[in-house]
Amino acid sequence: MDEKIAPHLEELTRALGDIEKTGIRAEFYKLLAFRVSPEIAKDTILRKFGGKRKILKVKDLSASLKNFEITGRILDIGEKPLRPQEGAHEGPSKLYTGVFADETGSVMFSSWKELPGSVGDAINIKNAYTRLWQNRVRLSIGEQSLVSRVPDSSLPQLSELSEIPSKKLIDIGAADFSVNTVACVLQLSHREVPVRGKQSKVISGVLADETARLPFTAWVELPGIDIGSIIRIEGAQIRMFRGMPSINLVSSTRVSAVTAEDAEKLAFTFESASKDPAPLKIEEIASRDSMFDVIAAGNIVSVRPGSGIISRCPECSRVIQKANCRVHGKVEGVRDMRIKAVLDDGTGAMSVMFPRELAETIYGKTLEEAEQLMFSDISKDAVYEDLRRFLTGRYIAVRGNSSNGEYGISFVAEHAWVPDDDLAVRVVELLRRLGPDEEEQCSEVSGGGISLA
Ligand SMILES: [Zn+2]
Repeated sequence: MDEKIAPHLEELTRALGDIEKTGIRAEFYKLLAFRVSPEIAKDTILRKFGGKRKILKVKDLSASLKNFEITGRILDIGEKPLRPQEGAHEGPSKLYTGVFADETGSVMFSSWKELPGSVGDAINIKNAYTRLWQNRVRLSIGEQSLVSRVPDSSLPQLSELSEIPSKKLIDIGAADFSVNTVACVLQLSHREVPVRGKQSKVISGVLADETARLPFTAWVELPGIDIGSIIRIEGAQIRMFRGMPSINLVSSTRVSAVTAEDAEKLAFTFESASKDPAPLKIEEIASRDSMFDVIAAGNIVSVRPGSGIISRCPECSRVIQKANCRVHGKVEGVRDMRIKAVLDDGTGAMSVMFPRELAETIYGKTLEEAEQLMFSDISKDAVYEDLRRFLTGRYIAVRGNSSNGEYGISFVAEHAWVPDDDLAVRVVELLRRLGPDEEEQCSEVSGGGISLA
């Protein structure tokens, strides 16, 4: 293990100086404890502490990136005066906002300093960062950023960059500003939500094509469109929702039904798009910022602390300690159960969150039964210890949504089960490793799936 880690620690020292004193070494080991690979842990730290300058494209942008370099064209720019803050010194008095694009996409930006260029000009930004603002990723140019105008380089022309890109669902990312796509409606429901204090009707659901699925929200009516419709969407806005890009149909978005004739030319039909997704390797999931409604399977290699019985604030559902919510103060907590476990399939590992219903299924105990265990045992970690004993090493499949962050992939499971198709193969493999004597016994197990419940 140490042989694998040593070169990364050396590199961190070269880039960042005394890593012992600055606590970077501890940060590195913290990431390893989350089963982040040494390589990724090193990159994360370099990104966070600015040791290595990264050159990014618009398509690479996600929330909370720091200290990267990017080159693109200004598509649009405007300025607004800022109200001087009380007690503030000579801060910036104007904020410049607009749209910035390269050949991979376009993104909203905001700048605290005047830019050395206007609409159509190509600029290079060093020490740029990103922010999530109104659920959209925004390229930020701060006081510490260096901006220079660059010669009209190899960037596509303004007219080309201003065109809204047509994308498959899998290629739609957090930084996308506006996209065109063709997809079929897999799910659709109407609900009322408060928008600026007024109840408004919105439609939400799931879209699919041959590459992926994504959630959508329509803030406008969609006459004639229902589950099974194949639609062409022009000028949809992308916003982040629970760490996932979501397609927003707004008043400026054009939505039209695809004719039967045109639908025949597509690589998907409603039938093919509504089939269960094929299982993915965890390394594939790790290679993307986020994935919606995907399946993976692996062994539970550890159950994380914080799993078991928890208390939530009745107002905001935050997890609370000692009947104290950090927003609502003293409250009567509501009991809940959850499991956070690390799932490993040999290609990578990810942290999976099982909410109560799934936690009860994979643990085989209800919340009430777990509470009995908690009350009957003097150890306050009784449930956690029991969970660890019961779940560690189990092979399970999960279906849900993933998002990739500072501590690797976090996956929220919406379904979980024991895949019986692989069981026979894995048991035979295991027995082969153990030796020939045990092989006969495997026929008993390979007959069918076992249920965890
Ligand atoms: Zn609360």
